[in-house]
Amino acid sequence: MNSEKFLLHEISWTDIKALDKESTVFLLPVGSTEQHGPQNPLGTDFLIAEYIARKTAEKLPFVFCLPTLPIGVASHHRDFPGTLYLSHQTFEKMVKEVIHSLHIHGFRKIIIVNGHGGNTNPLTNAITEYNDIHNMLCFLFEWWKDEELIESVFGFPEGIHAATMETSVVWAVRPDLVIQERFEGLTSAKKWGREVGGLHLTSRTAQFTKTGIAGPLEGFSLEKGEEVLETTISKLVESIKEVSEYKE
Ligand SMILES: [Zn+2]
Repeated sequence: MNSEKFLLHEISWTDIKALDKESTVFLLPVGSTEQHGPQNPLGTDFLIAEYIARKTAEKLPFVFCLPTLPIGVASHHRDFPGTLYLSHQTFEKMVKEVIHSLHIHGFRKIIIVNGHGGNTNPLTNAITEYNDIHNMLCFLFEWWKDEELIESVFGFPEGIHAATMETSVVWAVRPDLVIQERFEGLTSAKKWGREVGGLHLTSRTAQFTKTGIAGPLEGFSLEKGEEVLETTISKLVESIKEVSEYKE
């Protein structure tokens, strides 16, 4: 097979059949189509996840990238038009069935490259079930959880939602889609969600931020976004080498 091909949908089934079952690693990018403030595209989460997954797969001959799942669990953003969302149950079932499609052909190693926090719980449920019951080796990779990296680049550990950090990263992925003219005058919530009596109350985003943004809004930087992406991809490449070689 032409070793330059790394996107599953561009490869024939006979070439997939011929792959080594133990060393092949599949990446599944998942995200969300949801509001990301007035300055960012609705596809921010899946565009970032897809970029990381594809750039990573490109670097390693035994890694193949599945088609992106672009809609996730995002009903909390439903007040903002253009937001699309699935229920937890539907999303989890969809992911499990994708994993199952590889599982029935003897593949075991899948890394889900997630771009959206609302997907974390159902993804964890899906991979736990497949690892526990079907003897798979599925992993969850969430780029924004690398707080050490984000703090070293931006000076604060968490971006929350559509604020400086995430805007900078999607800007680096798709400079044509981020609207710089809208940076000025943006407002955001300091924290995610609401608190009552010191307890966290899960909320629809519109209940605590008018723009849909939460987190710091200073120092937008395409270069910093690139730095986060480059480091994230090189760390993921190293992890995948170990996953590929891992034997139980
Ligand atoms: Zn996001």
